Amino acid sequence: MTELLDGKALALQIKDEIANEVRQMTQEGHRAPHLAAVIVGSDGASMTYVANKEKSSHEVGFTSSVYRMAESTTEKQLLETIDFLNNDPDIDGFIVQLPLPKHIDEQKVINAISAEKDVDGFTPVNIGRMVLGEDCFTPATPMGICTLLKRYGIETAGKHCVVIGRSNIVGTPVANLLSRKGFDCTVTMCHSKTQNLKELTLQADILVVAIGKPEFVTGDMVKPGAVVVDVGIHRVEDATKKNGYRVIGDVKHSEVDPKCSWVTPVPGGVGPLTIVSLLQNTLKAYKRR
Ligand code: NAD
Repeated sequence: MTELLDGKALALQIKDEIANEVRQMTQEGHRAPHLAAVIVGSDGASMTYVANKEKSSHEVGFTSSVYRMAESTTEKQLLETIDFLNNDPDIDGFIVQLPLPKHIDEQKVINAISAEKDVDGFTPVNIGRMVLGEDCFTPATPMGICTLLKRYGIETAGKHCVVIGRSNIVGTPVANLLSRKGFDCTVTMCHSKTQNLKELTLQADILVVAIGKPEFVTGDMVKPGAVVVDVGIHRVEDATKKNGYRVIGDVKHSEVDPKCSWVTPVPGGVGPLTIVSLLQNTLKAYKRR
């Protein structure tokens, strides 16, 4: 029987734990942790993500602020805002919502974020610390995937984990984390130049899919009994929905789910845990200070 790695339910539980901790600290007279977000332009999906992060911050008792900047914002103006946030003593952590408009150098912007406030875990310092197994802010989505596997007690040691995708924010860090002590998977990382992808995915005890292509992984690519983590998020038009769209993943769930032992749904799988990881990192940044 297939069981759900229910990210929505787990996120609620962890948010409750964070809220209790924050309540206790504020009752003792401490200020609340403060998470800020910067958004440039008005991309629909990015605005939804930032709104969800703001909502979740309030739910756990954090202070939250959002810096909304016009699409025409220059790189210099954005770097000045980051400098301001780096130095604002009231802010514990902040994120810059990606993607940024084409005229802005994304890596330059990420590099400008102070490692101590980088609660998305995207800066070279935090990525370096993660690879070395040092204390760091782990990138939010990979951290969420690890939390799902741990909290649901999924056996990982010695298992063959196949990761599809090698992006800096998902594929590369999750492959690293799952191969480290504590998870102890044997990891194969696949990318756009991988040959015989299906041969590899069919060997996966744990399949993490972060390819960014709607319903790319089909039933014939999955080994019976595998654990499948679908990171993908895509909006597709759906006139039957009130908002005019529905959300699907990188996995064709109608075919894949019946073959799995465990699977993350989309929506309600990895997404909610990404936000929770951000909250956990912010709480950590607050405590460090
Ligand atoms: P990306 O586009 O940066 O990376 C996609 C990766 O897939 C690349 O590394 C590429 O090499 C690989 N790839 C492309 N074609 C391939 C092929 N034919 N075979 C094997 N590999 C191939 O995407 P990303 O930023 O890592 O995001 C992946 C998906 O996850 C997207 O749908 C994104 O929206 C979603 N996402 C979700 C969350 C969340 O919180 N749930 C967070 C981040 C990203």
